[in-house]
Amino acid sequence: MLMTHIIHRSLRQTPPFAVGASGVTVYDSAGNAYLDASGGAAVSSLGHGHPDVIAAMHRQIDRCAYAHTAFFTTEVAEELADTLVARAPAGIGAVYLVSGGSEAMETALKLARQYFVEGGEEGRSLFIARRQSYHGNTLGALAVGGNEWRRKPFAPLLMEVPRVAPCYEYRDRRDNQSVDEYTAALLDELETAIIKAGPDKVIGFVAEPVVGATGGAIPPTPGYFKGVREICDRHGILFIADEVMCGMGRTGTLFAIEQDGVAPDIITVAKGLGGGYQPIGAVLAQGAIVERLRQGSGSFLHGHTYIGHPVAAAAALAVQQVIERDGLQQQVQRRGATLKRMLGDVFGKHEHVGDIRGRGLFLGIELVRDRATKEPFAPERKLHAAIKAEAMARGLMVYPMGGTIDGQRGDHILLAPPFIVSASELSEIVARLAEAVDAALVK
Ligand code: PMP
Repeated sequence: MLMTHIIHRSLRQTPPFAVGASGVTVYDSAGNAYLDASGGAAVSSLGHGHPDVIAAMHRQIDRCAYAHTAFFTTEVAEELADTLVARAPAGIGAVYLVSGGSEAMETALKLARQYFVEGGEEGRSLFIARRQSYHGNTLGALAVGGNEWRRKPFAPLLMEVPRVAPCYEYRDRRDNQSVDEYTAALLDELETAIIKAGPDKVIGFVAEPVVGATGGAIPPTPGYFKGVREICDRHGILFIADEVMCGMGRTGTLFAIEQDGVAPDIITVAKGLGGGYQPIGAVLAQGAIVERLRQGSGSFLHGHTYIGHPVAAAAALAVQQVIERDGLQQQVQRRGATLKRMLGDVFGKHEHVGDIRGRGLFLGIELVRDRATKEPFAPERKLHAAIKAEAMARGLMVYPMGGTIDGQRGDHILLAPPFIVSASELSEIVARLAEAVDAALVK
């Protein structure tokens, strides 16, 4: 029976009604308070109800709430683009503003294709991506993503994408392999896949610098992305970094890939860009990519009604300004270290916690049946879902992922609290999570 007229995620259950939110807490209509330990889905970087962001949105609404980009640009969208370019990795020179992560990925894929078409390389039509990855739910983004559960019903509609292994040291590095050997094997697999596809057929390699929704904050091994960059350069293909979830300060640097010391050709961001105050995403591209289009056809054959939305841009600009003004990037580094330590104290010896990992305030816990063999829990058990339910019952939001998703191995919990989270809120988060995990395990 339909409970409301909205198609919710579950067609069988209506979620609680959120009626208020402030700082790190969301309130429902039954009077319950939830500590937002996941920032929704790594969205709420400044927490809820930030007065400066709300004021900036009000000012923009009063001034000009909407102006279609076929006719106008706006100061606020230009300033946001300038701000992002000024802080982006080397060579990034242009920004395209969209309304979310999937749209950013679609845009990135099309921009990369048009770049080669304008260069006379129309034979390039393939993207290479990784297994156990998520790049969005629209058809192009779903096609490059490696999330089998989401892809399966739609497979006939999706383009073929050759896939390589994710960089997932905890599960995939063999005991007799050093980290460097493991990394070299992954890079070898990527180069082999490119050669097999035919380097002149490949547009680009797509990867999340720190894996989010399909793995629970899995960081790359040292040197992995340097190697990716070199291979892409060797074969003249683009490196597209999907920072929709891990970007915009979440890992302790504005772009997660900064910590790997390489500059991608294209970077997508969303979630933390607007911090949840508005739906907004962005594609950042090397200046040379856009310059080729400028010299060629003179336009990017793309567009959506809400690109460059002024109120969304105002929210995102305010979020980025607050992060800088309040030194929140340093705070992410400090609080991230605190949270990791607290997780280590509480779960480090837990018989069903195999790995605690991540960067900044983007941390994951992997649950295993057996620590020694790393055997995951049976997917049918849906441990991740049980933990989410137990956490919600204790007033805690965590982002669960799990074994029901083919191609994803085991159950994970992702923690991505707002950057403004206090140390005492972090201890409360960890205490409630410990109770929720143990309650879910005895079921
Ligand atoms: N890429 C990544 C890495 C993501 O985590 C997500 C969302 N979880 C997306 C793309 C899609 O973003 P959206 O849900 O805003 O369309």
